[in-house]
Amino acid sequence: MIYFDNSATTKIDDSVLKTYNIASQEYFGNPSSLHKLGLKAFELLESSRKKIAELMGFKPHEVFFTSGGTEGNNWIIKGTAFKKREFGKHIITSSIEHPSVMNTMAQLEQLGYEVTYLPVDKTGHVSVDDLKNAIRDDTILVSVMAVNNEIGSIEPIKGIARVLDDYPSISFHVDGTQAIGKGIEDQFIDQRVDYYTFSGHKFHAPRGIGFIYMKEGKQLEPLLAGGGQEKGQRSGTENTPAIAAMARALRLLKDNEDKKAAEMLKLKTMLINHLNSLDNTHVFSKLSDDFAPHIVCFTLDGVRGETTVHTFEDRDIYISTTSACSSKKGLESSTLKAMNTRENIATSAIRVSLDENNTEAEMKEFIKNLDEIHDHFQILN
Ligand code: PMP
Repeated sequence: MIYFDNSATTKIDDSVLKTYNIASQEYFGNPSSLHKLGLKAFELLESSRKKIAELMGFKPHEVFFTSGGTEGNNWIIKGTAFKKREFGKHIITSSIEHPSVMNTMAQLEQLGYEVTYLPVDKTGHVSVDDLKNAIRDDTILVSVMAVNNEIGSIEPIKGIARVLDDYPSISFHVDGTQAIGKGIEDQFIDQRVDYYTFSGHKFHAPRGIGFIYMKEGKQLEPLLAGGGQEKGQRSGTENTPAIAAMARALRLLKDNEDKKAAEMLKLKTMLINHLNSLDNTHVFSKLSDDFAPHIVCFTLDGVRGETTVHTFEDRDIYISTTSACSSKKGLESSTLKAMNTRENIATSAIRVSLDENNTEAEMKEFIKNLDEIHDHFQILN
């Protein structure tokens, strides 16, 4: 089997699963309970928070646990919009965000907020100048992703941050879900960012756990009302086993991060160079510094993305159409659409997404299969 669908989700790491099991069985107390089992769980919760904060360069009290990227994005965007509604109702985002941002914005529009969607150029990047021009007196939030999940473009977070230095009252959120652990922290971790979203299952932690960064002194309107866990910000009994497992997964992710990113880039380079030698393909992901090392989005022209995905699947190779989130609904890629890609090309797009465990041998095998599939469809076309 070759698994090249790591941006959809990653396989849980064996030792992370072990941590999860031990935490579930030995630290099963409710961290809010007063007895010693509660205290043991509480200590595990807080030591996990500290570990995650240290690995990310955050302070422990800036880390809040969620159920994943979707909740993090909903919470930060709605939580900011609700908290700051008296100061303004204008939000700026990009036109290539994940559905958990896009559909949250649509809900806010229904509630009377106004959203500016920044266009992207033909490589899938927003322009810092466009952002600057979009700022108004009533702008309360800018939300732009660090790495696009469909093509891997790295958005100019540092450039946006420098513009926002002049507007301290505007909150700045970055969805870092696809960016964590890819050796590109210097491009998206910035003091000016108020909120980050991260999700555990993108880095070998269990499903249904994630965390947000909320800068010291900032506050969101809670979305989940209840027992007041997470300093009253996010109610619900903490998922201690998954949190401990995520802390371990993050430590593993951060071990030799740059070396692992260089390996992924090597495989990505092999694939893109090969694609460039084939007829009738389009490659949307580039080898430049403003693209992440793990995502390659491309087409076999004239073949629908689903057909290509299933043809690879028949050979025990797993990839996606541009994003797993919209593929089952048969939606066309919102990112490629925003890049003004012709529809007949966009519907052929597929996404290869790597992780640090993928090997050169796997990429060679993938390319061999790609050649066969490409030749097969060329004859049919
Ligand atoms: N943002 C981005 C950029 C993503 O790729 C994803 C996952 N596809 C999410 C948010 C949502 O994360 P989760 O699956 O943990 O809800």
